[in-house]
Amino acid sequence: MRHGIISDVHSNLEALEAALDALGDVDVLISPGDVVGYGPNPNECCEILRERQVITVMGNHDAVVAGRMPLDWFNLFAREAANWTQEQLTAESREFLESLPMVHRGETFVMVHGSLPAPERFEYITSPREARPTFAEMSTSDLCLIGHTHVAELYFQKAGELWSSQVSMSAGGTIDLKTDSTYIINCGSVGQPRDFNPLAAVGIFDTEARTVEIRRVEYPIQVTQRKMQEADLPEPLWRRLQHGA
Ligand code: ZN
Repeated sequence: MRHGIISDVHSNLEALEAALDALGDVDVLISPGDVVGYGPNPNECCEILRERQVITVMGNHDAVVAGRMPLDWFNLFAREAANWTQEQLTAESREFLESLPMVHRGETFVMVHGSLPAPERFEYITSPREARPTFAEMSTSDLCLIGHTHVAELYFQKAGELWSSQVSMSAGGTIDLKTDSTYIINCGSVGQPRDFNPLAAVGIFDTEARTVEIRRVEYPIQVTQRKMQEADLPEPLWRRLQHGA
């Protein structure tokens, strides 16, 4: 079974469309959260994820916009974008975001936006030290898919070892899932990459081949930037798209 992974879409319709094109004919689509926030097309992105029945968990931006988390968790620009997003949201989009679970436990993987021990705290995993509590919570799963940092990378821990290794995947590539290891994989962000690669990031988890492939996909960044300018969204938020940072 082939799972297409689209994380941190962040209301970026052009990136989402390019990502879905690149994924092509996968069996199921899954998303580790942050459908909205920052970008100019929240409703269109919610509608696509709803229509395509994408298995999605709740991101911190989804939680704030859906009123499940206070706005003051955010910095100024994220707050401005969240306020703007709340004003734009249709009842259907809001309902969709409110309905998202914090964790999805599938047969072959577990998925969370931030970290497993406290999904509602939306903690970041940026080092083996921060990955440790999530490895400890994975129990029978040997793969945890995450988002949140917008950085494509993986952590793997061999059976019997207490420490994991961290590997950058920002240029893309294929990860072979070995049976003697457990993995935390962040396929990067579709709509706002922050690993110094401005291309949209997507993943394909193939359960038969036991691989996770990360691909970077071109999209018309200037179109998204223009829409953000027209919507009067904060300048740093549209400028960063071209730098992937
Ligand atoms: Zn995000």
